[in-house]
Amino acid sequence: MQMRTRFAPSPTGPLHLGHAYSALLAHDMARSAGGTFLLRIEDIDQSRARPEWEAQIYDDLTWLGLTWPTPVLRQSDRLPLYRAALKHLWARGLLYPCTCNRRDIAAAASAPQEGAPLHGPDGIVYPGTCRHIPDSTQPLPDTALRLNVVRALNVLQHRPMARPLRFTETGTRAGTHTIDPTDFLSQVGDIVLARRDMGTSYHLSVVLDDAAQHITHVTRGEDLFEATQIHVLLQQLLHLPTPIYHHHGLIRDAQGKRLAKRDDARAIAKYRAEGATPHDIRRMVNLA
Ligand code: GLU
Repeated sequence: MQMRTRFAPSPTGPLHLGHAYSALLAHDMARSAGGTFLLRIEDIDQSRARPEWEAQIYDDLTWLGLTWPTPVLRQSDRLPLYRAALKHLWARGLLYPCTCNRRDIAAAASAPQEGAPLHGPDGIVYPGTCRHIPDSTQPLPDTALRLNVVRALNVLQHRPMARPLRFTETGTRAGTHTIDPTDFLSQVGDIVLARRDMGTSYHLSVVLDDAAQHITHVTRGEDLFEATQIHVLLQQLLHLPTPIYHHHGLIRDAQGKRLAKRDDARAIAKYRAEGATPHDIRRMVNLA
């Protein structure tokens, strides 16, 4: 199968050196294998996404020498597809509406009998407050939808052609990673698949889009390594293939902190304005 990689930025700020590294790595991997590099705009958070940041993304990546097939897949164009997947999961009894806000969750998770709240790849492990809402309850417009992980694992386990929950990693933690269902329950919990403000979530959208774009190798920062178990679970529930994952190290600042969108000092645009060449950027991220 021809290799297909992707870079999936959110247009919520300027691309910085960390993004340049991620994009160049995905591009170089595909190019050296005779494959295809794709771009995807992850703009489901409409309260933070801005057209000017999206325009800057195209401009910076083109300047870096990257090319990709068009039209570019934009998540904001795909909301009906995310809704259809949620409907399918809902019909199978795998979702429930949740009215908790962050404060409710933090309070319930740190109730005296619970001990210290446990943090998973999706924030505090949800203590299950709304899990027992009767199945017939229709989600209201301002509720989130959570995955009932016990039921989801049960469905997968009892499938005639049950596949092990596992993925192959070729990046910083290379090897085969098998997901233990008991650990998933206690360390990840009932994740939100549709946020009340978005009608979808990063996890659901990323899984559907990687499949829609036929991505064979997901290259991204190692801060998303722990989220991969969520993605593998969703792939199996939605009958989608699991790609190979390649999590790369993060570019850090002089204090060892990972770069954030607000680190304008490391923005590609700033280096460009100061006269840096694309080759200089490649040298800075060790991909020259
Ligand atoms: N949109 C995510 C970000 O900008 C990347 C998600 C992914 O690569 O899976 O951090």
